[in-house]
Amino acid sequence: MADTKYIFVTGGVVSSLGKGIISSSLARLLLSRGYKVTIQKFDPYINIDPGTLNPYEHGECYVTADGHEADLDLGHYERFTNIHTSRANNITTGRIYQQVIDKERRGDYLGKTVQIIPHITDEIKRSVKLLGATGKYDFVITEIGGTVGDIESTPFLEAVRQLRWELGRSACCVHLTYVPYLKAAKELKTKPTQHSVKMLQQAGIQPDVLVLRTEKDIPPSMRRKVAQFCNVSPEAVIQSIDLPSIYEVPVMMEEQGLDRIVLEKTGMPSDGEPDLSAWKKFLRHVENAREEITIGLVGKYVELQDAYKSISESLSHAAAYNDRRLRLVYVHSEKVTKENVDGKLRDLDGVIVAPGFGQRGIEGKFIALEWCRTHDVPTFGICLGMQCMVIEFARNVLGLEGANSTEMDHDTKANVIDLMEEQKSVTNLGGTMRLGAYACRLKPGSKAAEAYGRLDISERHRHRFEFNEEYRQRYEEAGMQCVGENPDTGLVEVVEIPGLRWYVGTQYHPEYQSTVLEPNPLFMSFMKAAIKYKETKGATQ
Ligand code: GLN
Repeated sequence: MADTKYIFVTGGVVSSLGKGIISSSLARLLLSRGYKVTIQKFDPYINIDPGTLNPYEHGECYVTADGHEADLDLGHYERFTNIHTSRANNITTGRIYQQVIDKERRGDYLGKTVQIIPHITDEIKRSVKLLGATGKYDFVITEIGGTVGDIESTPFLEAVRQLRWELGRSACCVHLTYVPYLKAAKELKTKPTQHSVKMLQQAGIQPDVLVLRTEKDIPPSMRRKVAQFCNVSPEAVIQSIDLPSIYEVPVMMEEQGLDRIVLEKTGMPSDGEPDLSAWKKFLRHVENAREEITIGLVGKYVELQDAYKSISESLSHAAAYNDRRLRLVYVHSEKVTKENVDGKLRDLDGVIVAPGFGQRGIEGKFIALEWCRTHDVPTFGICLGMQCMVIEFARNVLGLEGANSTEMDHDTKANVIDLMEEQKSVTNLGGTMRLGAYACRLKPGSKAAEAYGRLDISERHRHRFEFNEEYRQRYEEAGMQCVGENPDTGLVEVVEIPGLRWYVGTQYHPEYQSTVLEPNPLFMSFMKAAIKYKETKGATQ
C-alpha cells in the first residue's frame, strides 16, 4: 500500500467511554467498504503487557494467536473485524521504554542523552508505523489508552502531534468525549467536552472528528455549538448514544457518516456505502430473539464483568445465532456451598466454569461441578474450569481423596493436574505461560468433533498446568474421555463425559476465537445443548 492512512482515536473527560468500540466500529465500516484495516492499542501503563495484571485492574487478559497477552480491547477488535491481531497490535509504555533502554545499552544512541523527546516519542512513532510499514493495510487505527490530560499519556499525544504534522492528510484524529445529563437541571452539558478538546489542542492536536458519548439525544443546535467551540465541522460532531448492544454501534456510526467523514479527511474516495449485510443479519437475530436462555458463569471475578468479557461475548454470539436472548447469571464461586448449590444452579439451562488462577473460590467450583455432573446439566469448563472438572471427577468418581492440581496443593497425593514439564524451570511470571494458538486433534464421534465439524482445529491457550497423562486410563475406564490432544506432545486439550447431555472441558480458551461473523463452534454446540435441555425441562414440568 503506497500511502497508509493513520487514524488516531483519543478519549477525554472520563475513561471507559468505549474508545475500543468506536475504533472497532470504524474498522468494521472501512472493512465493509473493501479497505484493508488493522487496529492497534497503545496503553500508557508501565507493565510490559497486561499478563501479570489482576483482572480487577483492567478486566480480562486477551490472548492473540501469536501468544501475546493483550488488553481486552483487542478482543473487541477481533470480534468486530474478524481479523487476527498480534503482538504488534498492543504496545505499552513499558515496552516502549524497554526498547529504548535496550538500544541505550547497545550503544545505539552514540553518546547522546536519552530523553522522552525525542527518544521515547520516536520509539512510539516507530511502533505506530510498524504495521503500516508492512504494506498490508490501507488504514491503521491507533487507539490511545487513557484520557487526555493524564501524565502517562503525554508522550503518546506528543508522538501523535508529530505524526499528524509529518503525515498531513494521511492522518486523522477522532476524539471521544462524554456529554453528561444532569438530572436535576434536566440538561445535557457540553462544557467537559469543550475543556477536553482545549486540552487536546494545548497538546497541539486538533481533532478532525468528535464522537460524543451520551445517554440522551443531543439536539443539532447543541452539536453545532460544540462544532463552533472546537474548530470541527458540524457534520463531524457525531453522537454515540447508549444502545442495547455494542454491535449496533457500527450501524449508528454509519448512519451519521463516520466512515465517510474519515475518508474525506484522509483524501480517500468516499462514494458508495459499506456493505453491512452480514453484520445486519446478525443484528436481526439479536433483535428478533424473544425466548430467553439462562446461562450461569461460575467464577471468582464476578463483581467485575469485564473479567470474563470474551466469554460473555462468545455466549452472546452463540445465543443470537440460535435466536435466543442471553440471560447471563454470574455465580460467585466463593459463595457456593453444598447447602446452597441447588438454589444457585437449579434454574440455569447451562453452566460455564470459568478460567482462573489460584486457590480462591476453587472449592465452590468443585461443588458446582459435582452438582452439574450429577444433575446432567450442559456444562462447559474452560481452562481452569476444565481442570476443575478433572479434579472433581477424581475426588467423587475415581475415589481419589484430596485429588488436586499442584497449583492449589503442591503436595497432593493425586496430582491429576500437574505443572507442565516445560514450566518447571520458569521463574519469571510475565509472558512465560503456554500462550497462543496450538493445534488440537479431536476424536471422531466426540461432542467436540461434532461441534467443529472437523478433527483438526487450532485454539488459543494460557496456562501452566495440564492433565496428568498417568491418570488417563483410569478416567477413560470410569467414563471421562480425553477427546482432544495436541498432535505433537499428546497434551490433553479436551475432556468430555459422553454419557451426559453435554459435559465438555477444554484446556484451551475457545472464547478468544468467537466473532460476530464467525461464532465459535463449541459455544454454538453448548448453546444448542442448553436450549435442548431447557425444552426437555419444560416438557417434564
Ligand atoms: N491456572 C491454570 C493454569 O495455569 C489455568 C489457567 C487458566 O484458566 N487460564 O494451568
